[in-house]
Amino acid sequence: MDYKDLADVIYPDAKPIEYYEEKYGPRDLPQGAEVTRFAPSPTGFVHIGGLYQCIINRALAKQTNGVFYLRIEDTDQKRKIENGVEQIIEALAKFDFIPDEGMISENEEKGEYGPYKQSERREIYHAYAKYLIAQGRAYPCFATPEEIEEIRKKQEAAGLRTGFYGVWAKYRNLPVDEAIERIKNGESFVIRLRSNGREDRKIKVKDGVRGHIEFPENDQDAVLIKADGLPVYHFAHIVDDHLMKTTLVVRGEEWISSTPLHIEIFNAFGFKPPKYAQVPSILKEEDGKKRKISKRKDPEAAVDYYHKEGIPSDAVNEYLMNIINSGFEGWRRANPDKLMADFKLELSKMGVSGAVFDMVKLLDVSKNIIARYSAKEVYDFANAWAKQYDEELAKILEDEEYSLKVFGIERENSKKPRKDLSKWSEVKNNIIYMYERPKSYDFDKISSEDAKKVITEYLKVYNYDDDKQTWFDKIKDVAEKLGYAREVKEYKQNPENWPGHVGDVSTVIRVALTGRKNTPDMYEIMQVLGNEEVQERLKKLV
Ligand code: GLU
Repeated sequence: MDYKDLADVIYPDAKPIEYYEEKYGPRDLPQGAEVTRFAPSPTGFVHIGGLYQCIINRALAKQTNGVFYLRIEDTDQKRKIENGVEQIIEALAKFDFIPDEGMISENEEKGEYGPYKQSERREIYHAYAKYLIAQGRAYPCFATPEEIEEIRKKQEAAGLRTGFYGVWAKYRNLPVDEAIERIKNGESFVIRLRSNGREDRKIKVKDGVRGHIEFPENDQDAVLIKADGLPVYHFAHIVDDHLMKTTLVVRGEEWISSTPLHIEIFNAFGFKPPKYAQVPSILKEEDGKKRKISKRKDPEAAVDYYHKEGIPSDAVNEYLMNIINSGFEGWRRANPDKLMADFKLELSKMGVSGAVFDMVKLLDVSKNIIARYSAKEVYDFANAWAKQYDEELAKILEDEEYSLKVFGIERENSKKPRKDLSKWSEVKNNIIYMYERPKSYDFDKISSEDAKKVITEYLKVYNYDDDKQTWFDKIKDVAEKLGYAREVKEYKQNPENWPGHVGDVSTVIRVALTGRKNTPDMYEIMQVLGNEEVQERLKKLV
């Protein structure tokens, strides 16, 4: 009896790996093309760190005319939720991530390298595990939970590393005959790697972000296949990334310490490992301390949060690109009109310490992005958001023709478009006065009595058809007539001589029209409100 017999007893039906090696041939891609993937568990939740990884993965695939695919890592049955895959696909789509290949709905997929859901690849994993067992590089381990606990206790008492390695790997040298007998008796077992590594030897692993990192070799007989027949991440991703021809694995830095194990498994098969780039976590600063942004504590850890808040996905993507690559900000300033996809991302320029997520900065990026949108784009985005999250705003926006004019104020024909919007949830408050008459008035330092005089005089001269210059001259005329300084400069020289200046007079008109002291250009506002509405609003005060 030898390892091959053992392999046959454990996986009698598994195909030889040659079958899969042949089935999944090389990809027909240009030289240097990167094949990248996003490989979440189907928990339905997309973490902001996941989106961050997607941006890197997609950028590197696109830049090299490669492929970016979505693989679902659902071997941990406990973490699975109903429609979890669908929810991930939807969450990504909201940020314009449509993978080139992989899962496209809960149960559908696209591409030649599937199945793209790990739970459907069981027979593939068994074939590859069988191969390792037959080669003597993996073995069944029958340790019960009690035995594992006992080993751990002994190791701890002796101040040693815990785990299955060296003499502690209890079933590593179990004779094949005995192993076969135990299996035939129905004993539960896992499959472990038979590690060749030594802790006192070093290996160098290249990380795309950090460069070369030196580690002790892996010497742990790590579990590859669990008792339920499903693989653990370490094994599954290796088989998958090999067969799916992944060239670059971008994943969280929590995996750095497992790379020696992954390299050992690749070597056990004789496969070339992909490049690895372990990217830093996104941090949050709280009370002067930095910590990982947390799914449990921070609502902004979920990408859905940004969608609900109405922060445009372009803004979230650009902001993340900012923290991925410090060169992006300067590039964006020099190329305000280019697409983010035109920026060349380089992993080696990425920071190694985690980036602190800064909401203020994100909203600032967002303001600049919204400022670049046309009135129609603002309308479409705000309307789509409103339909989902704000009925009242959706109702207001039903009048599309008028709303386009409202959003066009200081935007369409302006060299310096307004920057007073950072998210769609601010839109209602931002424009409501264009749809509703003011309910109260605060004229600042001008009394209601004096405000009334200003409005009365202004109504006498107001003409909807005036051009901007004439319009403003008329406000100055009103100021002068009522004893206010015609020019601000004049006023500033001798403030005590005047009750106020032309600016105060226009504030009165502005407040009368909108109920607000600060608005975008008043001339444009009045043009959009229309003659009748302007007159109505002003007349209410006299
Ligand atoms: N399923 C793993 C995770 O969510 C994937 C890591 C990887 O990209 O390889 O962390």
